[in-house]
Amino acid sequence: MPEKPPAIPKISHFAAFKKDHMTARIYNFSAGPAVMPESVLLEAKEALLSLGDTGIGIMEHSHRGKAFMAVYEQAVVRCREIAGISSDFEVLFLQGGASLQFGMVPMNFLAAGQTADYLITGVWSEKARDEAVRFGQVREVCSSKDKNFSYIPGQQTPSANSVYTHFTSNNTIFGTQFKTEPATAGSSFLVCDASSDIFSRPIDVSKYGLIYGGGQKNLGPAGVTLVIIRKDLVEKGNKNLPTMLQYRTHAKNESMFNTPPTFGIYVMNLVFQWILDQGGLAAMATKNEAKAKVLYDYLDKSKLFQATAAADSRSLMNVTFVTGNETIDNQFISEATKAGFDGLKGHRSVGGMRASIYNAFPHEGVVELVKFMQAFEAKQV
Ligand SMILES: *Cc1c(COP(=O)(O)O)cnc(C)c1O
Repeated sequence: MPEKPPAIPKISHFAAFKKDHMTARIYNFSAGPAVMPESVLLEAKEALLSLGDTGIGIMEHSHRGKAFMAVYEQAVVRCREIAGISSDFEVLFLQGGASLQFGMVPMNFLAAGQTADYLITGVWSEKARDEAVRFGQVREVCSSKDKNFSYIPGQQTPSANSVYTHFTSNNTIFGTQFKTEPATAGSSFLVCDASSDIFSRPIDVSKYGLIYGGGQKNLGPAGVTLVIIRKDLVEKGNKNLPTMLQYRTHAKNESMFNTPPTFGIYVMNLVFQWILDQGGLAAMATKNEAKAKVLYDYLDKSKLFQATAAADSRSLMNVTFVTGNETIDNQFISEATKAGFDGLKGHRSVGGMRASIYNAFPHEGVVELVKFMQAFEAKQV
């Protein structure tokens, strides 16, 4: 730790910010926390001082009060509407990120001597698996580690005796994404870490036992984790766990056994409304496909840049690419950053570049990036 903490940039650093707070915004390709819809930010900004005409800011409202209860209830209703979630499922807003779900899932459902299936398609799947082995046995259904997780393995044979089947729908670091759910057998229920592609496309929740995602990629700020869980599973969970680690605690108390992340839930509710205003998940998918296509089409033509993910496994959320020369990669990242394209450095385990283009990332930002890449490529000869 430095002796003196670094200074947080001040608004005065952006001259334009004072005139028009949006003109100071640049293209943010960060993998998470990530870009949010501007309309949501503007509304949240107002609510910091007063939620509606209550005279009390959103962070200052009691979580038991009428105003916040309305926010919470609206968030649940909108979440259900977006994904067509039936009353067989609970919608929970938890804390601890996706990382706590890595442990909570096996802790609740996997007893010693029992087996769970894990599809290993990246670092996050490995982290989930590493928590499960503390509680029971893990069968690795498949792994794409042989090629540095650059592809999604083909259809696998599920085992009928597994309690659940866990997969990571979008591999944020490696830029790969499942196009459909993996198969399960017997009574094995499907568990999905959907942190980086939740609500980016239609989802048939009825195929799942449990879906979880940290908020900070597609849904809102860090600090709130969305969990969608089948009610019969809530009941089946291990009762011999600390109260906060049992799903039933949160289900019984409408996510308010303790103080919930009120601001996070508030913003997530605004994002839910924004998704509905965009036309829901089908419209979201159309936009995301078009947006990613601009970049992949260019990458496929480029003589300098190449996409790293196998063509049939490419993510619409995180586009990973390299030049094959680390010096040129670094030069590109540095020039791009100066030109207002931020967050393009790839994860250290892949190197190169990664453009995270979640729901809220604007289409024109990808078009501008491709223009910048073309100009950069032209200079390289
Ligand atoms: C970011 C990410 C995580 C980690 O989320 P936290 O909320 O930081 O715990 C887990 N899984 C995936 C797929 C992610 O993208």
